[in-house]
Amino acid sequence: MPNKLMQGKGLTDRLLRNWFRCRRRAWLDKYGNAERRLWTAHRTIQLNDQQQGFTYLIESKPKRGVKACEEGTAGVVGIRLKGTLNSGQVIEAHPPLLQRIEGESRWGNFAYRPVLWKQGKRLTREHRLGLSLVGLLLEPFQKAEVPEGLIISRANRGIKKEKITLNNGLEKQLSDSLEKLAFDLNRKEPPPLTADRRKCSLCSWRSLCGEEAGISGHLSEVSGIGARRLQILEELDIHNLEDLAAADLIFLKEKLDYFGTQHGEAAQQLIKQAMVQRDGCAERLDQKPALPELRSAPGVLIYDIESDPDAKDDFLHGFVNLPRRKCGEWNIESAKYHPLLILAENGEDTAWERLKWKLDYYSDWPILHYGETEALSLSRIAQRQGASQDELKALHNRLIDIHARVRKHWLLPVNSYGLKAVAGWIGFKWSQFEVDGAKALLWWRQWRGGRGTSRGNSNSLRRIYKYNKDDCLATWAVAKWLMDNS
Ligand code: SF4
Repeated sequence: MPNKLMQGKGLTDRLLRNWFRCRRRAWLDKYGNAERRLWTAHRTIQLNDQQQGFTYLIESKPKRGVKACEEGTAGVVGIRLKGTLNSGQVIEAHPPLLQRIEGESRWGNFAYRPVLWKQGKRLTREHRLGLSLVGLLLEPFQKAEVPEGLIISRANRGIKKEKITLNNGLEKQLSDSLEKLAFDLNRKEPPPLTADRRKCSLCSWRSLCGEEAGISGHLSEVSGIGARRLQILEELDIHNLEDLAAADLIFLKEKLDYFGTQHGEAAQQLIKQAMVQRDGCAERLDQKPALPELRSAPGVLIYDIESDPDAKDDFLHGFVNLPRRKCGEWNIESAKYHPLLILAENGEDTAWERLKWKLDYYSDWPILHYGETEALSLSRIAQRQGASQDELKALHNRLIDIHARVRKHWLLPVNSYGLKAVAGWIGFKWSQFEVDGAKALLWWRQWRGGRGTSRGNSNSLRRIYKYNKDDCLATWAVAKWLMDNS
């Protein structure tokens, strides 16, 4: 046992869910220093969505506690279920929702089935076995069989329902998983960092694990290494950034080729990237100027979109208009931020009219953006709104992806080529602390939820604008660095 905390405590549905996401996470949830936990906007978004989904499903607000079960309420929350496995292991679950169905239970001629909310499209073990765990504990609690559970998720209009049969096969898988979870929780040290570090951005332990990854030179810290490549490199006895930086190119290429030519072709890039990160020195890849289009441009529009991905809604198109003085200097003091808030109910034609006006007004100014999203979104709107081939071509020629130019011209000592990492390395500082896309999305949902009804909501909108403006300015900081270092 790692410490006294664990003694006498059972395995919970929450620990199991987080263990499926990352084995280390469950361990940290149990033993980690709570002060190192960070709040995640993503979790709040998920809980809000879940609450809306449940209310939609049962067409009323769920009630709380055992009394609500006794009364046969359509939906019940706030129940804590407890039981013991044959192995003697105590298990607990706090089902997000119990839905009344036909049947016979200790309370009368009705019973309950467990319901889980699913964020996104994929149905995973986390959902199926989470339901199975609740079903296992619900059965003795209500004295009625629980043959099925329900997974609901957001659909185009309303919710999508997926029934899951809770059979012996699922129960066997659950028992195996609980055994492995118990084993991991009995470790003295936390399990290793997850191979797929993309998950970390949604995890409350991201700061703690990020620090450890940096200190230990974890391979996932090398830009270009995902879960599969990390596994392959481990098999080749390359365990950290130092090992990779010191690897022999011919050996590595030959070995990586065996796993697929895409890995072999990346060998040189990976070694160079690891060297740059190890030494902390940027390396230029292409001697040509990175942004020749800006030499004679009278100004630039710096463009960034904020989106609600679940609703497929690009709700904010933000621009910073940055003019140039006659002497050629960029007049950053005169730069103006112009947010175009796009409300879906006003129609895409209205949105395009406003965007087109903006683009036409500054027709000879290039449009800088970071990553593909902005170019794709703008081109698709233009296409759908009937822009001619010539107009599309002109738009395409004006759009300059700063991220692509960085990748083409430089290797930087950063663990990601995302805007936050690159602009941060250059020294750019965001004006709001710990803000990311998820937090901006949460503010947006809050504003949408009660538009015009409270001061808090308009504050939300102001914060989104500030965040979006900062992203535009960060994009400019990177573009400026590229020009200054060409
Ligand atoms: S931050 Fe990443 S590695 Fe750490 S517990 Fe969370 S998901 Fe696992």
